[in-house]
Parts: sequence; C-alpha cells; structure tokens
Amino acid sequence: MANRRINICKPGFGASCALCCGSHNFNLPLEKIEILLQGRMRDSSALYYKHPHESLFEKRFSDGMQCPNVAMDEENELFCLIYNDPFKSAEVNSFFNGTCKNFYCPAWDYLSDEEVIFAAKLMSDWYYYGLLINNIEGLKELFAQYIDPAMVPYEELENIKQELHDMVFDF
Ligand code: SF4
Ligand code: SF4
Repeated sequence: MANRRINICKPGFGASCALCCGSHNFNLPLEKIEILLQGRMRDSSALYYKHPHESLFEKRFSDGMQCPNVAMDEENELFCLIYNDPFKSAEVNSFFNGTCKNFYCPAWDYLSDEEVIFAAKLMSDWYYYGLLINNIEGLKELFAQYIDPAMVPYEELENIKQELHDMVFDF
C-alpha cells in the first residue's frame, strides 16, 4: 500500500465502492437500492447520526454491515454522509476513527494502480466495480488477458457481471 496513488474506494472513471460499508447488503433489487441510496442526502437529519452498525432495511447477510451513512450522489457515485462531518456524536466518532478510517480491504494490498484503473474503466459503476476489485484473482487474470478494458468483448463483460453477482449472492 506504500506506493498507492489511486484511491481504490473512489478511483474516478465513474466507479466507486462502499462494499465494506454494506452498499450491497440489502435484500432488494439493484434498482431499488440505487433509489434508496440516492435519497440519502448529506443534510438528511433522519440518517445523519446513525451508528454505522445500525441498519434500516432487511439485510441479505445478517452478519454484514448495512451502514445507514452510505449514500449516492448525482453522478451515481457512493460516498459517506458523515465522512467530513465534524459534529459526529462521540459514539459514532469513536467507531469512525477506530474502524472506518483505518479499514483497507485486500484490494489495497494486492492490486496495482493499473489493475484498479482497468476495473474502474471496465465497470464505471458502484455495483460491479466493488465486486470486481474484491475478486482479486479474477481481476488479475482479466487484466493480464486484456490490459485495455475497451478490448473486453461485450458478451464476456456481461458474463463477468453475472458471475460476480452469482459469486456473492448465489442465485
Ligand atoms: S471494499 Fe475496499 S475499496 Fe471498497 S470501500 Fe471498502 S476499503 Fe474501499
Ligand atoms: S460511516 Fe461512512 S465509512 Fe463508516 S461504514 Fe458508514 S459509510 Fe462506511
């Protein structure tokens, strides 16, 4: 991670990730998750000070997070509602500083910047990008095969998306 130049959580190219915050952990169809996250605004006092361990909707994985502070901006990129908020409650602040700010998924250690950019350009979204960068070996193989995301055939891309979805949700 020492030479990391790219913020893997927000690499640009229309891609973003909040998988570890629980962005995918809803027992809802993709379109409904998007609407729900888009509806969370930075000044939404109903959600503002929720503790990251709280959840507001039925989870797909009961032991996983579904942080109520994950939101989506007008570019359909994920962000944390309270990341830059200086007025977090003591309890939320403690979790945020102790866990959120110090958590790095394996992608931070095992993916090169080039592999991250490849994934970001290939998916340009929040849903499949987050799944792809957490499939380290699969992404490395794909990158080695194509190098340029524009060279991945459409049908193969669709198959990759289906596989990523099935790997996590198994249906
Ligand atoms: S899963 Fe990794 S890339 Fe995604 S938000 Fe968490 S730390 Fe960032
Ligand atoms: S508070 Fe922010 S960084 Fe922490 S889990 Fe929630 S969305 Fe992620």
